[in-house]
Amino acid sequence: MPWPGGVVEDPVLGALACAFANLRYHRRMTILNDGERATSEVELGAAASLFRSLADPGRLVILQHLQQGEHRVRELTEHLGLAQSTVSAHLACLKGCGLVTSRAEGRASVFSLSVPAELVGVFQAAERLLEATGYAVDLCPVYGSTGTRK
Ligand SMILES: [Zn+2]
Repeated sequence: MPWPGGVVEDPVLGALACAFANLRYHRRMTILNDGERATSEVELGAAASLFRSLADPGRLVILQHLQQGEHRVRELTEHLGLAQSTVSAHLACLKGCGLVTSRAEGRASVFSLSVPAELVGVFQAAERLLEATGYAVDLCPVYGSTGTRK
């Protein structure tokens, strides 16, 4: 029997899909050390993914700019001087990561930060960390702006 509209009708498949969704959305982790037990590398995976989602100057400039308020793709390309394909790819990534949300307005999508206060908190902490370390990371041969990994 075909699945109308892509809806999973098989109860077993449905339950499996639900279990995977729960695994994906309810897996809790903490970066902060609570002193009770060692956190495994696997448990820190979501935190590493979060930092990877932020580890691109293009995505950072988009997140920074969206702090001013919502924007269409065309507006972001104009205001940031980036190619539309670049902006669209970054927005798709940021949306998938849950950092950006969008709503339809006519035929265009309007993008905004999904959790602005939390994101600004991370950026403020990052700025304090950069200050406290004297921007040493910028000179790092691996991750610095002149390093090989961009
Ligand atoms: Zn703008």
